[in-house]
Amino acid sequence: MGDIQSNGWAQRTCISCGAAYQYRLGKNLFLPDELKLIPCPHCGALPLEMISAWRAYVHARMILFSLGIGLVGAYLGRMKEYPLQEATLLIIGGALLVTLGHIAALVSYTNADLAENLAQAQKLLRKGSLVLGRPGTRATPAGVPEASGSSSGSRTALGLVLLAVLGGAAPEALRLVRGWPHNPGAQPPVLGPGDTSRLYLAQTIRTFSGIWQGQVFATLLNAAELGAPERFDADTSHIGFGGSMQASSSPQNTPTTLWADITVPALETLAGKSAHLQLDLQVRYPMVAGPRSYQDTSEQLSEVFPVQLASPGAGKTYLAFWWSGLLGGCLAALLGGLQLWRAARHLTQPSHP
Ligand SMILES: [Zn+2]
Repeated sequence: MGDIQSNGWAQRTCISCGAAYQYRLGKNLFLPDELKLIPCPHCGALPLEMISAWRAYVHARMILFSLGIGLVGAYLGRMKEYPLQEATLLIIGGALLVTLGHIAALVSYTNADLAENLAQAQKLLRKGSLVLGRPGTRATPAGVPEASGSSSGSRTALGLVLLAVLGGAAPEALRLVRGWPHNPGAQPPVLGPGDTSRLYLAQTIRTFSGIWQGQVFATLLNAAELGAPERFDADTSHIGFGGSMQASSSPQNTPTTLWADITVPALETLAGKSAHLQLDLQVRYPMVAGPRSYQDTSEQLSEVFPVQLASPGAGKTYLAFWWSGLLGGCLAALLGGLQLWRAARHLTQPSHP
């Protein structure tokens, strides 16, 4: 039965034992009044509507959280500068939190232990925020809702939610199983013959608005040892600049990371090898010279990258696993969460024996 509210108090009759009680509605910063979980001070039973409202509330938030993780994950995945493995860790951590949140909603407020509930109610009685108006008429409470553990339906839904954790871990699991090496400075961090990866230089430059353009040459230093061509295909930023540029009244130079996209020749013999790649970059960029002027600056940079190669096409496969793991996992978490939310809203009162 719903409760009757007046003067900041809610009145309720316990369906399980027949007791009438009232409890104070308070200003809780975190939880609305509908989410006050007050067990019956006579038998300890939590009313069905309270359990239902609490679960629906938490499940709904976990659904939103899942969606947020999916969106943030996709954003980080698209943003090349962000290390893919860190995004992977974030997704796995977020998906684990979502799973724990759903589980907490299912196990935190139940009628599995009426004695424990009763102890909670007695604390409230002593504090004066709960008053037993009329004791119950039944010696043993009957028709107590949610007295047993989770249902098989909620376990299936939780399984779906848990798939998001596995989806997030899929690319790294694949990498470990296949023994593909990880290259920390590369995006994607796995690359094999035929793959293209972005390598980030350790050296940075300071340019106006982070604008720069360049030309790059990628030289394989151990080409003779690997029996591979000395040059790898490489490309870099082509952001154009020149003439007049929009700037605030006090333009500043920003630290800018340089990169080059390199493509490993599709030679099977390169699989599993260690390539010593030298990148020579000729960069041009605008550097702030005064309040209203910039200087066209040129620089020559060089850096050697030890690149550990995986099997042919490993980088593409890794990326495909990354994206399908994220999207599939997110979808599973949303479906599982929705199922839990619907189940919470449709809890049924067990009939009296
Ligand atoms: Zn009761």
